[in-house]
Amino acid sequence: MMQCPVCHSTASRDSVWRDSLPTMQNYVHRTYESSMAAFRGEFRLAVCQSCGFAWNRTFDRKKILYDENYDNAVPSTVMGMYYQEISEYLNEKYNLHGGLIVDIGCGNGEFLRALCDVQPDCRGLGIDPALDHSKEELDGRLALVRSEFSSDLLMEQPTLVVCRHVLEHIPEPVAFLRCINNALTAYGSCHCFFEVPDLSWIVENRAFWDFCYEHCNYFTSGSLSETLRRAGFEPRATRLGFGSQYRWMEARSEQVKALPWGPAGEHGLVDQVLRYADDESVDIAAIRDQIKQAKTEGQEIAIWGMATKGVIFSLLIDPDATLIDFCIDMNPNKQGCFVPIAGHSIEAPEVLLKASKEKLIIIVMNENYGEEIFRKCREMGLDPILVNANGTPI
Ligand SMILES: [Zn+2]
Repeated sequence: MMQCPVCHSTASRDSVWRDSLPTMQNYVHRTYESSMAAFRGEFRLAVCQSCGFAWNRTFDRKKILYDENYDNAVPSTVMGMYYQEISEYLNEKYNLHGGLIVDIGCGNGEFLRALCDVQPDCRGLGIDPALDHSKEELDGRLALVRSEFSSDLLMEQPTLVVCRHVLEHIPEPVAFLRCINNALTAYGSCHCFFEVPDLSWIVENRAFWDFCYEHCNYFTSGSLSETLRRAGFEPRATRLGFGSQYRWMEARSEQVKALPWGPAGEHGLVDQVLRYADDESVDIAAIRDQIKQAKTEGQEIAIWGMATKGVIFSLLIDPDATLIDFCIDMNPNKQGCFVPIAGHSIEAPEVLLKASKEKLIIIVMNENYGEEIFRKCREMGLDPILVNANGTPI
C-alpha cells in the first residue's frame, strides 16, 4: 500500500508519468556517448488526496549522483535581480543587522553573497554537500561548508534560516525538516524562509517540461505548510515569487508538540492535477506539430535555456533530435555539451549567427528571461520570433 510521505494517508492517485527521464538533467555530458549512457529513471507522480502532496513514487536516490559534473547554474542578471529582491525583503522584515544567516542547501553560495551585499553587517553560513570544498569569503563574513546539514554546524542562534530549492529533492522531507527544527529549537525559536517550485503554477501553465527526476516532490501552498507543520514549524506567511513560478513560505521553528489535526485538504488541486495528466499528451503533440509545421515552412527552430526546462522539453518534443536545430545556453560550462538521452548539442548564443536571418524561431524556456534573450539577439544583429514553450509569441 502506498503511503503519502507527508501525512501517511493511503488515499493517493497516480497522475503524470514518464517511462524514462534522465535522473540528472543538469548533469554535464561532455561527449555524445556519455549523454546516451545517462542514468535513466521512471517518473510516476502520485498525488495525496488528503494533503495534496505530490511525489515521484518510483524515485530511487541511488540514481542521483552530485559530483563535479553537476551544474545547475543559470548565469543571468535576471536571477541576480531576483536574489536581490528576496534579500531586501528578508533584510527589511527580519532586521538582519549583526545577525547570522544560515543557508541550508546553499549551492555555490550565490544567494548568501547577495544577502551579505544587501546587509553588509551580517554573517552568512552556507551548508551544501555538493560544494567543491569548504571555504571562507568576504574577510570571514561568509563561510561555506561542504556537508549535509547537521546540528553541530550550528554554534549560535541564527537570526534567519534560509532553505531554497532543497525540499523538492529530499525523499523524506518531514524527517529532514525535523532534523533542522531540532537543531534550531536548542536555541529557542527561529525565523525560517523556504522556497520551492509551485505545483499549481506548473499545472495552470501546462508546463510539462517542469516535471523532472531530480525533483521527487512537488508542493502547493497547502502541502508545503502541512510538511512544515509536521516537522514542528509554524507557517506564518506565504506568497509566490519569480513570476509566480516559486512558492515562498516563512515559518518559525517550534518544539514539536502533538501532530496537527490533519490537513485542510487540497481536493481542488488533486482534481486539477489528474485532469492535467489526462490531457498533457495532447499539449505535447500539438507543440510538436506546430514545430513540424514551422519547419515545413522553412523556419529554423532554437530553444534557449538548457537547464531543467530545456532539457526535458527537448526530450519530450524531439526525442530523436531531428526537429530542433539549435539548443542554446548562457552557461559556458554547458556549451559544447549534450542533452542526456536525446543527444542534442548545447551551444553558445553565437551559433545562431549561422541560422537563417529571416526565418528563426526561438522558444524561450523560461519567460522570465525573455527580455534578456531579446537584448542578446539584438546585440548579435538577429531579429528572431520569440515564443514561449507553449508556442505563444512573447
Ligand atoms: Zn498526504
